[in-house]
Amino acid sequence: MISIPAPALAIHGGAGALDDPGTSGLGPDAPRQEGVGRAAAAAWELLRSGGSALDAVVLAASILEDDPTFNAGTGATLTRDGHVELDASLMDGATLGAGAVACVKDVRNPILLARAVMERSGHVLLVAEGASGFAREVGIPAWPNDRLVTPHQRARFDAARGVKPPAVGGGTIGAVARDRNGHLAAATSTGGTFLKRPGRVGDSPIIGAGTYADDRLAAVSSTGHGEPIIRVTLARLVADLVGTGRSASDAAAEGIRILGARAAGQGGVIVVGPAGEAGFAFNTPAMARAWSDASGAIRTAV
Ligand code: ASP
Repeated sequence: MISIPAPALAIHGGAGALDDPGTSGLGPDAPRQEGVGRAAAAAWELLRSGGSALDAVVLAASILEDDPTFNAGTGATLTRDGHVELDASLMDGATLGAGAVACVKDVRNPILLARAVMERSGHVLLVAEGASGFAREVGIPAWPNDRLVTPHQRARFDAARGVKPPAVGGGTIGAVARDRNGHLAAATSTGGTFLKRPGRVGDSPIIGAGTYADDRLAAVSSTGHGEPIIRVTLARLVADLVGTGRSASDAAAEGIRILGARAAGQGGVIVVGPAGEAGFAFNTPAMARAWSDASGAIRTAV
């Protein structure tokens, strides 16, 4: 008898503080939990009807980029000069194809641009004006920076003058999936850290740090303080741990333990392993997340 791989999915809406608008700027928990649940429902529907893992993670990421609750696309945090600069990446575990963009100021859905980089540029990572120029070439229209800025993020920026921002802001989004053909994919998108220096690039668009997918290992998306995550190449580290035979949950926990122990980093990861099990771990107070359990139901938590 031929067995068809069951689909699997995990989504995060950023590792960070619990419901604490005063310091984190994240806003209340409930909309974040609802947001990841909505994106998961759409991606899950696609996977269950035979859609690819790659299409599912791009769909989930673009829904969350359009949701102003999250620090990605519309609603992203502001740099110290008051603009939005977006980073995103995508990886296809079947082919090891990868695409990423960083410091993009004029694209509504950077994950769609990352996909175009993967499929049409011959490169892996394009940044700033070069990425914008490529967007226009492939028909992705210019989107004014102001339209990415929500009133909530503008007010948070105005209130934060002279205050040291937290290293881990939260609200970044990510999705990992396995489809019915057994293929894996991962996607991550963010506005980066609050009041970051213009030009700063975190882990989210770095393949191996923010995002990794290999059908033989796992699909992983990271979130949290980007600099330590880059130093331990967290996504690839966790994927390799799955490759040594650990479960997705075990590998996620060990990756986060290493992030804390070796780089004093705070953050979280979501993982889908090659056998279709979803796992996650975080060492921050909260991480909005949705995942498919063994019975095929979608669960959500913060
Ligand atoms: N990892 C992202 C960055 O450092 C931020 C986050 O996940 O909250 O850019």
